[in-house]
Amino acid sequence: MSDSFQTIPGTFDILPDAQSSSAGTVAPSHAWQHVEGTIRRVMQRHGVREIRTPILEPTALIARGIGQLTDIVSKEMFAFERGDAHYVLRPEVTAPVMRAYLQHHLAQLGGVQRLFYVGPCFRAERPQKGRYRQFHQFGTEYIGADDARADAETILLAVDIYRELGLTDFTVRLNSLGTAATRPAYKAALTAYLRPLAGQLSETSRERLESNPLRILDTKSEAERKLLEAAPVMLDFIDEESRAHYKDVKKHLEAAGLSFEEDPFLVRGLDYYTRTAFEIDSPVLGAQSTLAGGGRYDLLASEIGSKQEVPAVGFAAGMERLFLALEAAGIVLPEAAAPDVFVVTLGDRATDHAFPLIRAWRQSGLSVVYDLKGRSMKAQMREANRQQARRVVILGDAELDAGMAQLKQMDTGEQQSVPLSGLPGLLSAAT
Ligand code: ATP
Ligand code: MG
Repeated sequence: MSDSFQTIPGTFDILPDAQSSSAGTVAPSHAWQHVEGTIRRVMQRHGVREIRTPILEPTALIARGIGQLTDIVSKEMFAFERGDAHYVLRPEVTAPVMRAYLQHHLAQLGGVQRLFYVGPCFRAERPQKGRYRQFHQFGTEYIGADDARADAETILLAVDIYRELGLTDFTVRLNSLGTAATRPAYKAALTAYLRPLAGQLSETSRERLESNPLRILDTKSEAERKLLEAAPVMLDFIDEESRAHYKDVKKHLEAAGLSFEEDPFLVRGLDYYTRTAFEIDSPVLGAQSTLAGGGRYDLLASEIGSKQEVPAVGFAAGMERLFLALEAAGIVLPEAAAPDVFVVTLGDRATDHAFPLIRAWRQSGLSVVYDLKGRSMKAQMREANRQQARRVVILGDAELDAGMAQLKQMDTGEQQSVPLSGLPGLLSAAT
């Protein structure tokens, strides 16, 4: 075994070329750029602007925002202290974005802030396919928005990103969780239903029965799902206003032609959700089937110190699961752009002469590469092929003296002798 360093389990490098890791294929960096480019384009079309917040946040922000009893806060945080300060590597981005909104008084700008982010998140989970310790999320937060159109737009935006990438095989599940005021009655009914069944529940669910019974609805165990089939449903408990809001969300989704399933047991793993909750699942992802999840979080702002309630809705989506779904669907992403020109040199003088030329061509906007190892002409040509360069310029000492170079068109194999002075024009001409 080599004693060199390796990535920490649950983290991975993104290389220029695709690579396989223990947790599946890691897409190459240009594929990440392509997917991120698509995300940015669709966001731009929706008037959603980017926000970038720090990776490090105060632990209390996450604990209070997401809720002490959630999996994330109770067992998945990478948190540490330095002096009196408590830091956490952000496990999600919604609470940080809301913090930024409050900190910078973005409400004063008026209207609704349509924001998006793309970046790494950290959770101390058991690494497996589709589940990592450093993973990447993209998502939106519409802050200051009460309107049911915001909920519908959020869902449709996520759907549009998937479709634009070529993904069509996914389901949208929808539910309404009502407000904080209607929750105690539902919790009581659910607890009353589950208590006699406690013996059949897992240990975790038994604990949750007393602490946070809604979390049990989120169970991934088939046996528990069966037990829940006859459980009371939240929708029967929610207030009139939430019911009307839910109806409007569905109306707008239907008007947009989106098919969705209503799932009365859909709750999200974070405590701050109210009213709308939704998930987008891919059938090809197996146990880690959720591509994206989101909903309305009207309570979050007050939870983290705002004197005013700030209605908001958003989604968070996993990049790695998106790549897994794209791969499973056989969707081939565009290849990285090949260089416009590969410069092959023969002899020291030609090599030196080429160096400033290459720089000038690059400054004119061309993508130009060459060999840095002083290899043979054959090896340089092989490298040009490997990099799929469209043209090769061959420069030798003898040619240089005559002010000439060879220009080879790689697709046709056609090769011509051209004056060096005419090369810039030839190279920048469209191929
Ligand atoms: P799950 O139920 O799969 O644990 P979650 O409810 O914890 O998901 P969220 O906190 O809502 O997920 O995060 C939104 C999305 O981020 C998920 O739907 C998923 O695509 C992705 N995601 C969450 N945790 C991870 C992880 N550890 N590794 C990779 N992707 C993740
Ligand atoms: Mg989770």
